[in-house]
Amino acid sequence: MTPVQPSSSHPHHKARALPRGVPRPAKQLCSDCGLCDTYYIHYVREACAFLNQQFPQLEEQSHGRSRQLESDPEVYFGVHQGMVAARKRQPIAGAQWTGIVTTIATTMLTQGLVEGVVCVQNTETDRFQPQPILATTPAEILAARVNKPTLSPNLSVLEQVERSGLKRLLVIGVGCQIQALRSVQDRLGLEQLYVLGTPCVDNVNRAGLQRFLETTSRSPDTVVHYEFMQDFRVHFRHQDGCTETVPFFGLKTNQLKDVFAPSCMGCFDYVNGLADLVVGYMGAPFGWQWIVVRNPRGQAMLDLVLDQLETQPVDS
Ligand SMILES: Cc1cc2nc3c(=O)[nH]c(=O)nc-3n(C[C@H](O)[C@H](O)[C@H](O)COP(=O)(O)OP(=O)(O)OC[C@H]3O[C@@H](n4cnc5c(N)ncnc54)[C@H](O)[C@@H]3O)c2cc1C
Ligand code: SF4
Ligand code: SF4
Repeated sequence: MTPVQPSSSHPHHKARALPRGVPRPAKQLCSDCGLCDTYYIHYVREACAFLNQQFPQLEEQSHGRSRQLESDPEVYFGVHQGMVAARKRQPIAGAQWTGIVTTIATTMLTQGLVEGVVCVQNTETDRFQPQPILATTPAEILAARVNKPTLSPNLSVLEQVERSGLKRLLVIGVGCQIQALRSVQDRLGLEQLYVLGTPCVDNVNRAGLQRFLETTSRSPDTVVHYEFMQDFRVHFRHQDGCTETVPFFGLKTNQLKDVFAPSCMGCFDYVNGLADLVVGYMGAPFGWQWIVVRNPRGQAMLDLVLDQLETQPVDS
């Protein structure tokens, strides 16, 4: 692909990204969404989830309406037109759950709906250190499977998106990343943007994650995957494939009091209300995933992979 030089007609091209390690405008509340790693920092006062709230307007922009406040399900789960529990008939090995997110992303790419996907791999040396990328091959998306359970600057690749000249893009991300993305989406030079979200809560920075692993797992260095499960236990999967479970009441809460990032203690968008389609696990039976379709674009994304899924209704 030939890189395209952005025209200098936009004011953001004159702005300068902040170097890593320099405090961000939201100071200690910053969730490191990545926007300030790009010249889109120009829009930070408006776009940052922790400096400005414009949720109803962004819901309107993304879904054509804001959530119905007289409807309990919409108050809790955001604008939606459907919900379902699902799992892949043939799960992707090494995915966080059954790999529905990776499957939707690779299918959108191979079927030509998008030319690139913003997702997050890990660094070569650290399984849990996020490395956001603009993926343009199915192999690169597959290599981004599984959660990096830490704050991740996914939007740090937005300059690369504009320079690449891509016109149709899928972005995968958590709520705070998606809120900033929605705010600047019209400045990315795109014709089509699809957003595939996951829920997110109680996230940590890399040091906080280390403290959690060291105080909770019997073998912190061999953990490759963990999740807070519906059976009220943390399930750690280790390199040798074995699973260690720790009941929530066994967590050393006195040592974990301040482990969560301040941004995440104040986060109000657990359900990723601005994504077109959300894939999580909360509320689904054990081993199943939970899917929220927010708008027709999200339904079209889900329809692409329905033949690979078993589904069942969600109950209350
Ligand atoms: C930090 C985090 C917290 C979560 N908390 C909850 C929760 O409380 N309740 C719930 O129901 N679901 C939660 N989820 C979603 C859930 O754990 C699964 O990610 C989701 O069900 C998709 O599973 P999958 O097998 O389809 O994903 P996979 O196919 O394995 O794909 C995972 C995708 O997540 C992206 N990703 C990985 N790490 C990050 C990150 N740090 N930030 C942004 N994107 C990332 C990758 O790009 C990849 O495409 C969370 C996800 C993340 C990333
Ligand atoms: S949360 Fe994102 S937009 Fe806000 S200050 Fe941090 S990096 Fe910048
Ligand atoms: S809990 Fe909220 S603020 Fe923290 S990373 Fe997740 S979406 Fe962002």
